[in-house]
Amino acid sequence: MDELVCWSCGASLEDVPRPISRHSNCLKCYQQLRCCRLCRSYDERFDNKCGDERADPPVEKETANFCDFFRPRANAFIPDEAEGASDAITKLDALFSGDSADDTSEGEGDERPPTEEDEAGTELEKLFQKKEEDS
Ligand SMILES: [Zn+2]
Repeated sequence: MDELVCWSCGASLEDVPRPISRHSNCLKCYQQLRCCRLCRSYDERFDNKCGDERADPPVEKETANFCDFFRPRANAFIPDEAEGASDAITKLDALFSGDSADDTSEGEGDERPPTEEDEAGTELEKLFQKKEEDS
């Protein structure tokens, strides 16, 4: 599955001439395609949403840009990426698929934090082990 799709509507970009130029638009929703949202370096985890250190990331993520490091990314369409909802959806995805730790690991808090009981338990264990070693 490495089909190029519109970042906005998910339509196939099969019929869009390559390379994708600043004048390329989605044939279905007419969004500009040569933009961060369709780029391999687009990454929500960064403040500037760009994972490419060399790039000077355009502020506008959804309009065509001149970035030298633009490389189209397959399957760039993120469904239901509404403001604020994406976090919840990411978490839900993680819950259901259980293995989406690769590019959705926003926030470190997804791992199950040790409960107080757990921690107390290990502390106690350590104590006991120490005692046994001592004696
Ligand atoms: Zn589109």
